[in-house]
Amino acid sequence: MDNCIFCKIAKGELPADIVYETADLLAFRDINPQAPTHVLLIPKKHFKFLDELQKDDKMLAGELLLAASEVAAKLGVAGGYKLLTNCGEEAGQVVPHLHFHLLAGKKFIP
Ligand code: AMP
Ligand code: ZN
Repeated sequence: MDNCIFCKIAKGELPADIVYETADLLAFRDINPQAPTHVLLIPKKHFKFLDELQKDDKMLAGELLLAASEVAAKLGVAGGYKLLTNCGEEAGQVVPHLHFHLLAGKKFIP
């Protein structure tokens, strides 16, 4: 989507510290990390947020979850991370392209 910063990162038009990439997914370090490990995992295809995924996107949804686990292992935080997505402005979503935050390396208050 035009003017979407994460679409631009996915297309290589904006720089990012990429830690994982497949044909459909990308993970890169958050520019303003809230934990020692803070990575954003996105589908390269534009969805505004989780609620835009349809039944046809089942495969992609599964790939995202499995990729999160793979990225965690790659970064050495398997079994000790938080995975979250902000769905909508009320939840604190600032970038309107579906992304999961993978956070690790500090104690989190539930
Ligand atoms: P959210 O509030 O869930 O929409 O989170 C958006 C996240 O994107 C924030 O943690 C930002 O620090 C991060 N962010 C924004 N722009 C960039 C960028 N160009 N590269 C990496 N992370 C970014
Ligand atoms: Zn986008």
